[in-house]
Amino acid sequence: MSSIQSKMRGRPPKSKNSCTWCNETKQPLKYVLPTQHGKKEFCSESCLSAFRKAYVRGACVGCDNVIRGSPIKLEQKDGPTKDFCSPHE
Ligand SMILES: [Zn+2]
Ligand SMILES: [Zn+2]
Repeated sequence: MSSIQSKMRGRPPKSKNSCTWCNETKQPLKYVLPTQHGKKEFCSESCLSAFRKAYVRGACVGCDNVIRGSPIKLEQKDGPTKDFCSPHE
């Protein structure tokens, strides 16, 4: 907890909001889609609808982002299979 990762240089912290779908930061994020885990912001209506389409097909239960490509499935004894976008810790 006390170790600071000083090796990770060159990338600015995520202070700016970027479009959830295309990661564009230049444009204002005027389109907002509320989800169970908060709201997602988008630069354009097409980004919003593209995200929403992918989101209803399957969202990562770890980070609430859409899964692009094949999901990582976690099977549970009791309950539905959970889909992840990547192996979350
Ligand atoms: Zn966008
Ligand atoms: Zn995820």
